[in-house]
Amino acid sequence: MRRKLIAGNWKMNGSRTQLAELGPIAAAARDAAGVDVAICPPFILIPLAVPRAGGIVIGAQDCHHRESGAFTGNVSAAMIQEAGARMVIVGHSERRAEQHESDEMVRAKAEIALKHALTTIVCVGESEADRKAGRAVEFVCGQLRGSLPQEAGDGELVIAYEPIWAIGTGNTATPADVAEMHAAIRSHLTDDFGERGGRIRILYGGSVKPDNAAELMAVDNVDGALVGGASLTAADFVPIIQAARGA
Ligand code: PEP
Repeated sequence: MRRKLIAGNWKMNGSRTQLAELGPIAAAARDAAGVDVAICPPFILIPLAVPRAGGIVIGAQDCHHRESGAFTGNVSAAMIQEAGARMVIVGHSERRAEQHESDEMVRAKAEIALKHALTTIVCVGESEADRKAGRAVEFVCGQLRGSLPQEAGDGELVIAYEPIWAIGTGNTATPADVAEMHAAIRSHLTDDFGERGGRIRILYGGSVKPDNAAELMAVDNVDGALVGGASLTAADFVPIIQAARGA
């Protein structure tokens, strides 16, 4: 009942030339009935990516938590929407760490993004130390309590579970660990949002690659993937889209 969503996060990578990758990605997305596909390039590439999207959703990697004002260097949810993007990632662990973003700030970003009708991916995930100490589920549920928007807004809320130790490292969580965490997130969502919580998509992220995507997409409550490195080329990203179609 939940369509799979495969979203690519280009991070601070990409160029005008690299937008050529969107052609074959869009073609694969058209062939993959039942799978939604998105690419989140750097802000500056969004207006160039939108006319080449061919059915893929174009998204941003962050937005500011206020509507407008004296926030040098930041970009608002309204600006992202006006640029033609339909999605935004908030609370990515790289921003939580490097930009010191708190749960409260992530929640404010999510609320403003939803208000502007953006599909809003809220990222959560534990550190290696928390996982080793057996605190992973407790930590992630704490992040959900602090970061989840309280106002529904007009956009769609999506959760991405991304264990920090799996991002960009080539290490992925085991299917059993992913199943346990996604079940815990699902139960948090249904406790919080009732029946709507059952419809919220939960993505897995952390070194998803062509060779592990099928196994991860088959896990209960995994409704797609948030993909970093392997979203940069169609050669890597297309097999992940195809794995989601087969799941
Ligand atoms: C990410 O940055 O959200 C991510 C999951 O990266 P990677 O796929 O490269 O681990």
